[in-house]
Amino acid sequence: MKNLKNYAENEIVRLIQEKWITEDDLYESGICPVCFNQAHNHILYGHDMLLYEDDDLVCFFDKHPRAEGHLVISSKKHFSDLSEIDSDVCQRIISFTQKAMLYLKRVYNAESVYLCSISDGSVSHFQLQLIPRYHYEKSGSDNFVKHRKPYSEDMEKIMKMRSLLS
Ligand SMILES: [Zn+2]
Repeated sequence: MKNLKNYAENEIVRLIQEKWITEDDLYESGICPVCFNQAHNHILYGHDMLLYEDDDLVCFFDKHPRAEGHLVISSKKHFSDLSEIDSDVCQRIISFTQKAMLYLKRVYNAESVYLCSISDGSVSHFQLQLIPRYHYEKSGSDNFVKHRKPYSEDMEKIMKMRSLLS
């Protein structure tokens, strides 16, 4: 693994394009892959299906969802976890998450919505994941590890979510 800290950004872009390095190499060099992806035309992850964005937070659908409607709400700034986050940003993220959960029930007809966070490390964005549970699924912690599926786009529901969250 190379330490990429002293590499020019365009050199890092080339190494990613030629598949010499991955997001893990960036992370281990202290470079945030999420920010790098944003700054370089989504080179690592492609475009997210964005639902909402402002100066503090961004909300998008997970690319490999564990359930239909699996969403991610992420801080714009880096915070290693909830204990580190500015209290005003924290309040915004929590109240946004409450709305998103309500709208997942309304628009996706989720029976319940599970919440988890796995933020960890100094170049991490604070992220909350919302994973819907549907009426045909059992309740319980297995919902956190449901098999990931390819993302499938439902523009009608996406537009409803966007208008409710705006
Ligand atoms: Zn970042």
